[in-house]
Amino acid sequence: MSRVGIYPGSFDPLHFGHLSIIRRAARMVGRLVVGVAVNPSKSPLFDLDQRVATIARETAGMGAIEAVPFTGLAIAFARAHGATLLIRGLRSGTDLDYEDQMAGMNAAMAPEVETVFLLAEPALRPIASSLVRDVARLGGDVTNFVPSAVAREMAARLGR
Ligand code: ADP
Repeated sequence: MSRVGIYPGSFDPLHFGHLSIIRRAARMVGRLVVGVAVNPSKSPLFDLDQRVATIARETAGMGAIEAVPFTGLAIAFARAHGATLLIRGLRSGTDLDYEDQMAGMNAAMAPEVETVFLLAEPALRPIASSLVRDVARLGGDVTNFVPSAVAREMAARLGR
């Protein structure tokens, strides 16, 4: 199968919700390019190189998956990689409202790139990077939400 898909996001940090989408999306395409947004916020917990390296490490052995930094429009990133599928995860109706609008605008700009929504696994639906960061900053245990190496890196980054 030669179809290429992109899965863009901030991944600050990569969590089990993201990994579930990556695993499922990888089964739908010949190659999956995980696009790591350059500027998730003014002060990301992990810098770009760390976020890219984490995804490469945690997806090793999962198939043809590549982590690549990107800046600018997701559709431009898709085109640059010859991708025809743009994968997004949906956690809630709130996600859907926003994603629906974004998919509509992307379709108008790049009709050849189809947005595909994967529903979050129910058990993983509550996980969001911002909440994982908050829990870690407040001294909580994040091992239910992120791979153990990521939990250790978060602790080190937060000076614990
Ligand atoms: P977060 O919202 O956790 O910071 P990102 O902004 O990096 O994550 O989102 C990248 C993509 O992953 C988006 O399509 C988002 O909807 C999806 N996603 C985020 N959290 C989950 C989850 N728990 N389950 C499934 N998909 C998710």
